[in-house]
Amino acid sequence: MVLDATASADQEINPWESAAHRFDEAAELLKLDDGMRKVLRQPAMELTVNIPVVLDDGRIEVFTGYRVQHSIARGPAKGGVRFAPDVSLDEVRALAAWMTWKCAVVNIPFGGGKGGVICEPHLLSESELERITRRYTAEIYEFIGPERDVPAPDVNTNAQTMAWIMDTYSMHKRHTVTAVVTGKPLELGGSLGRPEATGRGCMIVTMEALKRFGLTPETTRVIIQGFGNVGGMAARLMSQRGFKITCIIEYDGAVFNAHGLDIDALLEHRTETGSIRGFPEAEDMDKDEALLMECDVLIPAAHENTITSSNAGAIKARILCEGANGPTTFAADSILAENKVFVIPDILANAGGVTVSYFEWVQDRQGYFWNLGLVNDRLEEIMVASFQAVTGYAEKHRVRNRTAAYMLALDRVANAIKQRGLYA
Ligand code: GLU
Repeated sequence: MVLDATASADQEINPWESAAHRFDEAAELLKLDDGMRKVLRQPAMELTVNIPVVLDDGRIEVFTGYRVQHSIARGPAKGGVRFAPDVSLDEVRALAAWMTWKCAVVNIPFGGGKGGVICEPHLLSESELERITRRYTAEIYEFIGPERDVPAPDVNTNAQTMAWIMDTYSMHKRHTVTAVVTGKPLELGGSLGRPEATGRGCMIVTMEALKRFGLTPETTRVIIQGFGNVGGMAARLMSQRGFKITCIIEYDGAVFNAHGLDIDALLEHRTETGSIRGFPEAEDMDKDEALLMECDVLIPAAHENTITSSNAGAIKARILCEGANGPTTFAADSILAENKVFVIPDILANAGGVTVSYFEWVQDRQGYFWNLGLVNDRLEEIMVASFQAVTGYAEKHRVRNRTAAYMLALDRVANAIKQRGLYA
């Protein structure tokens, strides 16, 4: 089934539909044979687990979790685990497929996977979260491992969550296995530079895009949606590099300053008050309007479906750098293209995180740790080369950047499968 831009609103915001639509488009352009399409279109493995957990008040609650491995053709499955109330199997499927394409775009030796648990982490205590994480790990134990499937942080999970997964896995194995997850605390085999890697990757590809517009960081106004792992880090690193971060958008509102926000002060304000709103050196704004303001670079770094067919036409940014996974729906793609917005697609723009996860996995397996300079230099090398590969491919084949990224990725994964052959 090939979806078109007239698909229903429900279809538009279903991430699996978006992923499938983009897959079909790239597969068609690559003239991928039907059999290979069937192999790559569906995840290789899907696991649903119902996790009973004792809450702090003694009640038992059952949480549903998933782990999906989309492909292991190029190496172990790789991808985060998210905790959120709206996690669904379709979402995890899409995110797993995007990990396959992302790892192939930056050419690191992994397949793609993703996990999620349906829960409201803000309403759970630290010890409840620990019990959920440990039981989830125990349930998916046989399916993960350094050579098999390597989880990492994603929405509402962090280094502490990874430490719990690593410990649970290691207790079952009866020895410490650091390489089973990435994004761990430094003391447990984490890598320097991992916490800021996704934000740094966004900055690196944005700098490459600026060259095409004759812009310098000092002349570039940036709007960032999301102020967490990705958006917060991107804001910090980019303001240090001289970019003017004019607006930050969060789930409860936005703040604007035409001369550029003091990001460190805003982070401090958020820590003190619990919100970015009411920041003394800025104007409070409506979060939906903020997305549509004049700027040079827009970085959606929060969640899926920020840019849809209803607001894409009103986006004024010249460069869209997708820090989140799936922030733009397939129906919005053609509107952005008509308006000549230069899109740095998610599977390239936010690949800095998984790239440094790869470095972490390599360091853990070697037991030899790199300094920050080496991590950042190697990250820059991979991000710049991948940006050039994608934009070069797009120019050569006269396709959009996103389509080029998918075509490059699909081609690499399909080639791996062809060379391995199908085991029967
Ligand atoms: N959750 C991140 C992503 O979506 C990182 C995944 C990883 O490091 O494995 O890319």
